[in-house]
This record gives sequence, structure tokens and C-alpha cells, in this order.
Amino acid sequence: MTEPPRKRMVKPPTGGNEGGRGKPARLKTAKQRTPAQQAWLERQINDPFAAKARALGYRSRAAFKISEIDERFRIFRPGVRVVDLGLAPGGWTQFAIQRGVTDIVGVDLLPVDPLPPAHILQMDFTDPDCAPKLIELLGGPPDVVLSDMAPNTVGHRQTDHLRIMGLIEAAAEFAIGVLKPGGVFVAKAFQGGETGEVIGVLKQHFAEVRNVKPKASRQDSSEVFIVATGFKGR
Ligand code: SAM
Repeated sequence: MTEPPRKRMVKPPTGGNEGGRGKPARLKTAKQRTPAQQAWLERQINDPFAAKARALGYRSRAAFKISEIDERFRIFRPGVRVVDLGLAPGGWTQFAIQRGVTDIVGVDLLPVDPLPPAHILQMDFTDPDCAPKLIELLGGPPDVVLSDMAPNTVGHRQTDHLRIMGLIEAAAEFAIGVLKPGGVFVAKAFQGGETGEVIGVLKQHFAEVRNVKPKASRQDSSEVFIVATGFKGR
């Protein structure tokens, strides 16, 4: 018995949109998706960095942000010890490993699939037990502390702002407390945030402190990265 022809559920693709070429793909609004989720999904599908990340096997497009920072500041090389705060799903750690880093430890609230040789902790970085555990797993003081931590926003401006600032300050305090002399600290921050105070503290402890907006950071986002190099020691 011959089967009836199957009905197509979707139209076949009519042209690529990778690399930002062609007409942007649009999705039918699924009943289950909120408009915000729908917008995120469409943006992700039409995003050249997300497409490139998929093609190169990176777990996140964030890998390109740290690759641009590394290109400019040369922070990764074999032999450096690295801590990655807020590593999930793991793009930054993947990139560091590719650049020859073997001593690397990361922490996130979320579970992360193994990324050998990285050590991965699932816990809250602000838990007082976290910092000693990270250093123990790393086997010594780090040369590089990275933080791409971002809290889940609750939609209340002041609360969100306080939570973001809390994470930046905790990461900076940790870096100043553990880095080797000459070390590097990279942290996600936000334009318009009250980062003046933390930048002032970093300037006392590092030879140079810059604000960097990588091309891979969405231009409509207020995200910037603080890059502090040349840790002066304690
Ligand atoms: N750099 C990552 C990459 O390359 O894949 C992306 C990091 S993502 C933008 C921010 C992460 O920070 C989230 O996975 C979130 O769970 C984590 N995070 C937020 N607050 C945290 C906390 N208190 N402790 C640990 N991780 C935290």
C-alpha cells in the first residue's frame, strides 16, 4: 500500500540569513511564547554572532566578546590560572581552553555540561564558601578573574540595579583579594550604572582600567566590560 504524500508543516527555506544577509527570518508566534520570548528567539535566529557560535561549536555567542577582549589585551596563554564567574553555558571557558589555558575553574548558579579540563562548581558566587572552594580547585592564586555574571532581572529598576552592582562589587573584591601581581580582571558592567565607585577602587589596585564595548555585545544593550590590567598586588 502506498502512503499518501506527507503534508509540509513549514515552508522550505528560500534564502539564508546567516551573516545578516537576506531577509530576516520571522517566526510564527507560538501560543506558548510571550512576545518578549518571541522577539528574543527571532533576534537569536537573525544574529550573525549566534550563527557563527553555532558553526564553530561555541556554547554561546558570548565567546566572541571575550575573544575580542583577548585580542586586544592578550590575557590568555598556556600556564595562566583563570577563574570564570558566571560561566554558564561555558563560551568564555571554551575560548580560554582553546587559547591553551589548562588551569581554569568556573562557577554558576546553573548546571553546566563538563568542559574538561575546567573544574566547574554549581553554586552562588556570593555564598561565602564559594571563593575558598574556587581557589582550592584552581590549586593556587589566579592570573585572570573573569566575571560575566548577570542576575535575573525582576523588572524593578532600582532592585535590578542594586543586584547588578552587588555582583560587580563582589567580583572586584574577590579579584583584588586573590589575583597574582600583574593579574587581569574582566567584568560585565552596564553603561549608566553607578560603577564610578568600583572603578575608583580598581584604579587604586590596577595599572590600567578601561571600559570596553566589544562588537559582539549588542549595540542596543547597555552592557560594557571593565578590563583592569596590571594588578599591583596587595
Ligand atoms: N560567560 C558565559 C558564557 O560565555 O557562556 C555567559 C554568562 S551569562 C551572561 C551570566 C551567568 O551569570 C548566568 O548563567 C547566571 O546564572 C550567572 N550568575 C548570575 N548570578 C550568579 C551568582 N550569584 N553566582 C553564580 N553565577 C551567577
